[in-house]
Amino acid sequence: MSGYRLELPTIQNWSCHNCGGCCRQHLIEVTDEEKRRIESQGWTPADGIPADRPIFVWHAGAPWNKQYRLGHQPDGGCVFLDERGLCRIHAKFGEAAKPLACRIYPYAFHPAGQEVTVSLRFSCPSVVGNKGKPISQQKEDVKATARLVVPEDVTKLPPPPIHAAERLDWSDTLRIVGAIEDSLIQDEGSVIARLLRTLYWMEFLGKATFSKIRGERIDELIDLIREASYTDVPTVGDTPLPTSIARMQFRLLVAQYARRDTALELERRWSYRWKLLRAATRFARGQGMIPPLQAAFREVPFEAIEASFGGLPAGADELFTRYLEVKIHGMHFCGRGYYDIPVVEGFFALALVVPAVLWLARWLAVGADRKQLILEDIERALAIADHHHGYDPALGQSTARRRVRQLAATNEIGRLVAWYSR
Ligand code: SF4
Repeated sequence: MSGYRLELPTIQNWSCHNCGGCCRQHLIEVTDEEKRRIESQGWTPADGIPADRPIFVWHAGAPWNKQYRLGHQPDGGCVFLDERGLCRIHAKFGEAAKPLACRIYPYAFHPAGQEVTVSLRFSCPSVVGNKGKPISQQKEDVKATARLVVPEDVTKLPPPPIHAAERLDWSDTLRIVGAIEDSLIQDEGSVIARLLRTLYWMEFLGKATFSKIRGERIDELIDLIREASYTDVPTVGDTPLPTSIARMQFRLLVAQYARRDTALELERRWSYRWKLLRAATRFARGQGMIPPLQAAFREVPFEAIEASFGGLPAGADELFTRYLEVKIHGMHFCGRGYYDIPVVEGFFALALVVPAVLWLARWLAVGADRKQLILEDIERALAIADHHHGYDPALGQSTARRRVRQLAATNEIGRLVAWYSR
């Protein structure tokens, strides 16, 4: 490795359980070299590859510079996925013969000064369920995966700005990231209470100027505003309700997380876009029935989502805490790990994942005729939402970013967190 230390998410376990889920929901882009390699493997229908589906689909780029992805079967699975949920390329030619994207999943590697920090994608059910071998015992495998993607100059990459007007060096940037982690993970109270307090001091930090403040003085500043958060932040029960405008903005964000853009739907380009537009209009109105954006959801009234669900089920605190720790520690919320956006804005976007997941979990529960959440609702909702977080280009575009900033500027994020956790 080119002179960096690898920082692992040591609280997390993971092993592949061959569920084949990643091969059903991801679009696997292939480089020209990978395309040539797979072509040279000589796949035919005799190997079980569907005769009526292309192995490669032109999905981006001009006719003289086409970019390809792997084709999909009629049920949405990759053309190489067999009936047992296993990869035919892996079975016949070994792991190294697969496209890079398949080999890396569910890991994500991000620069952190002299370190490369490792995060995981919670779209994988084994990551959500914390199933498998501790990551701390897989250091050599993770190092080998890192070698495939981490650029040579990774230790020279600049840190993300703190907010639009402030950029610090890596040491002070990581000092702030460490304080977020400490406040969210180590502090007292439920994960919801910790999130409300962290939102409070991050709102201050988003307006701070650091012209003369460096090193330990940043710690002192954060300690001061964290101290104030204990008296100034209302309890979850006393947090004001989100306004109707905030809830409308938030539903549009939720609609983005609720999508499942399968290869087949993307191939029906115009009719799919029309379907999404109609769904967005209904999400904006928030009345009547919720249009199911993927098979996991049933058509239920918007109104049912707004009722009290009696709090979070056992295990939800651990799940959200672990999720937030992996994402913060793995720098999977800002900079290279999240559309190159600043630390404070990236934190607000990550905080919004919590109420978005709770909204989707409520939708799953109502669809199963329940008025209370069970842990499985939250696990399924988190896998659905995290599939998009940091990977769906729409979430990195100005409309979605403006929505997050606006909800933060009007102090609505904490209200949404409290409202959907009750
Ligand atoms: S190439 Fe193999 S691992 Fe990659 S998506 Fe297809 S079936 Fe899954």
